Order: sequence, then C-alpha cells, then structure tokens
Amino acid sequence: MRIPSVHELKERLSTLFPDYPFSLFTEPARRVCEYLREKKVRGDLTEIKKEDLDKLLIHYFKDYISPNLRRVINGTGVIVHTNLGRAPLSKDLITYLTEIALYYSNLEFDLKEGKRGSRYSHVEELLLELTGAEAGLVVNNNAGAVLISLNTLAKGREVIVSRGELVEIGGSFRIPEVMEWAGCYLKEVGTTNKTHLYDYERAINENTALLLKVHKSNYAIVGFTKEIPVEELVTLGKRYHIPVMEDLGSGSLIDFSKYGLPKEPTVQESIKKGVDIVTFSGDKLLGGPQAGIILGKKELVEKIRKNPLNRAIRIDKLTLASLEATLRLYRDEKKAIEHIPVLRMILENPETTKKRAKKLLILLSKISPNLKVTLVKTIAKTGGGALPLLDIPSYGVALRWKGLSAKELQRLLRNQSPPIIGIIEEDHFIIDARCLFENDLKEIKESLTRLSHELETST
Ligand SMILES: *Cc1c(COP(=O)(O)O)cnc(C)c1O
Repeated sequence: MRIPSVHELKERLSTLFPDYPFSLFTEPARRVCEYLREKKVRGDLTEIKKEDLDKLLIHYFKDYISPNLRRVINGTGVIVHTNLGRAPLSKDLITYLTEIALYYSNLEFDLKEGKRGSRYSHVEELLLELTGAEAGLVVNNNAGAVLISLNTLAKGREVIVSRGELVEIGGSFRIPEVMEWAGCYLKEVGTTNKTHLYDYERAINENTALLLKVHKSNYAIVGFTKEIPVEELVTLGKRYHIPVMEDLGSGSLIDFSKYGLPKEPTVQESIKKGVDIVTFSGDKLLGGPQAGIILGKKELVEKIRKNPLNRAIRIDKLTLASLEATLRLYRDEKKAIEHIPVLRMILENPETTKKRAKKLLILLSKISPNLKVTLVKTIAKTGGGALPLLDIPSYGVALRWKGLSAKELQRLLRNQSPPIIGIIEEDHFIIDARCLFENDLKEIKESLTRLSHELETST
C-alpha cells in the first residue's frame, strides 16, 4: 500500500485537532510516517483502515503534546522507589504549593523588619524545634549536604571513616569519591566487618579534621561484626577536639521501633548524643521533597552556610515550601503518619493492604474472560536505602492474560496512561497494593478495560 505523505497526515491531524496550530503537526506526522514505513519494510503492513490511521495519529499527537515526566502507578511494593520519584508528597500541601508557585512570596524578605531576609529562616526554626539541634541549613539534596559539610570542615585534611561504612548508593554517590571532590583525604580504618574504637584513635593525628560515621543505607554486615556507636565517637572526638559528623542517609524523625519495626536511628537521637553535624535526605523516610538537611552545632553550621558552594547547591522555593509544610506535619506524630504517604505506607497494617488488594481484585474480576486475577501475598520494601533487611508483609493482585506472557502484559501496562509499574513473579504480573493510592484503583480498572477492548478488537 501507499504510505500517506507527511503533508497528508498533517492535513488529517488538523481536521482531528482543529484548535492547534498547523506547525505542531509536523513532528507527530513525521513519526507516524516513519512508523508506517518501518512496518512496511518488515512486511507487516498490507492495508491500513482510515479509522486505524486516525487512532494512530491521535495516539502519536497526544504523546507528542503531553509532558514526558508524568504520574505513574507504583505497583512494585517499594515505597521510597528511587526510579519512581521517591517520596510522593502529602496531599495537604497542594493548595499551599500552588500559591507559592503562582504568586510572589517572602522567600528572602523579612516581613517583620521590612528588609532582606534569609530563605533558610522558613524551615530552620521548625527543624530545631523538632530535633533539638542548635542550628540548621537545607540544600538541594543529601549528596550536596555531605559534600559541602566535608568541604567546609575538612578541606585539605583527613577524615576518618570505618571500612565497613564506605557506602555506594544508587546514582554514583560513593563516599570515597565524594571525599575526593570535597578536597579531603579519606583515612579508612578497621576492616569490612569489624572496626574498633582504637582503630579510630590510632588514626588520629594533627591533620585529622573530622570523624565521620555513615549510615549503611542499603546493606547490612552480619555475622562476626563490630561497629562503634556514634556516642563513643563523640566521646573520642571531644577528647581530641575533633568534630564528629554523621551521614544518616534516610534520616527519620520518627522512631519506627515504637511501631514494631526494627530500630532505625532518628535524627533527634544523633543530635542528643552530641554529634556535631548530622546530614540526611528530605525525600527518603522523611517523606518530603528532594532536599539535604544539615543540622548541628551553630558554629559549624554557620561555617557551612558561608561556603561559596552553598549557592551552587541551594534549595529552590518550591522545594522549600514543600519541606516546610511536610515538617509542620511532624509537630503531631499521629498526623504525620496519617498525612505523609511514605509513613502511612510503611506503617500500614497488612490487613488494610489486604482490603485494598481485595477491592482491586473485585474491580478487575469482570473485565474480560481472558483476564485471570488472584489475590496474592507479597513482600513490600521500604526502599530509599532505609531498613534494607525489612520485609513488610503485603498483598497484591496477580494478573494473567490469556495468550500474553507476563512480560508482554507488563509492557502493555507500562504504556498505559497513567503507566502501571508492577513486578513479575512466576509468569504473573503482580500489582502490590501497598503503594497504591485510592484513585489508582479506578485508573487500573480503566486501563485494563481499555486494554481489553484493544486486544479483543485487534484479534
Ligand atoms: C541516600 C543517601 C545519600 C544521598 O542522598 P540524596 O538525597 O539522594 O542526595 C547520602 N548518603 C547516604 C548514606 C544515603 O543513604
């Protein structure tokens, strides 16, 4: 068959979408043309019906005009999923965030004094109130927080770290390399599995600037092990007048062990134990926006604030607004757990997850005789480099489509709008219910209904 020209396709698009300028059709028309040509070369194209061509044009045009970065449905059961945007923000923030985004704000203006103010002032007090720290600063992310802290406190000098804590987290953040970029010399002590206090003490010399403790975010060393608790490092540091820094990674403000989960050190505990500088992320266990939070002794935080690097990694106003609003929720722990999605998902009773999975099961059960759905027990994960060994009992729905492999079904669901991301187990596509929002259920049903129409009319 003859493939329509780009111009002909543009003409057709302009009839289908009369409200758009003609120039906007060039790219999608070109893509459809290319798609048809490739199909023809493969021998897959004999004839194309007018309505199928329209469908194709509509699909390509919509894809072309919609944003690339968009909402997806997280059916993986991994709560702080780095690839899926880490922490979803609390719904409570919407009105406030919209206002800050659409209008002017007092970002760097002191309303009391009527003069220039500091962007950090909006969250600093709140952070001090929640954690008991003397001073605080926020930057773009925790990698930035670690970098600027090391650079300020130890440039050209040595930083002592245990060999068991030389972490690499996703996206190429590795302690030895960050150290290098910060201009410090890494002084590794101890062994992979055991580091003693005397290992740190023996390494101290006149060029030692900092004792660093790094939270083993995404791994655990088990068996014959020893690591030095941060309070012992603080005592050692005091004796030699060397500050102690702790990179908490995730950094929780809530003690999860109160709710029956394994102990994860809290920010408040580190401050209370006398750590001089503590850094952590805004979008891991805290459940806020991407940000790096630096807390600790006033004198040191002030030094870090004045580092010229601070300008390069500074936090923007929308992040600041989301961080402030998230932190405000922490004034009431119960409210925080209810309103911050990450906390709610981690602490949700498995029976509640089961109810959600059942609800989804019912919604999906009558879509097509070709779709088989079953309720399954699953294991959810915290993700985001926190509580790596914790298996969270969860539930999900396993899908099988007659005539499709789990991989094919996975691909089709990934191409829905919104895309549905799940996992494959034993040739079933599984949607874990733990990270689903209430309106995700309806969206999943609609996607599968659409898909069933497509699959059943094409065969
Ligand atoms: C996640 C993490 C970081 C980096 O934090 P980002 O906010 O992703 O930049 C640094 N250190 C540790 C130990 C971490 O777990």
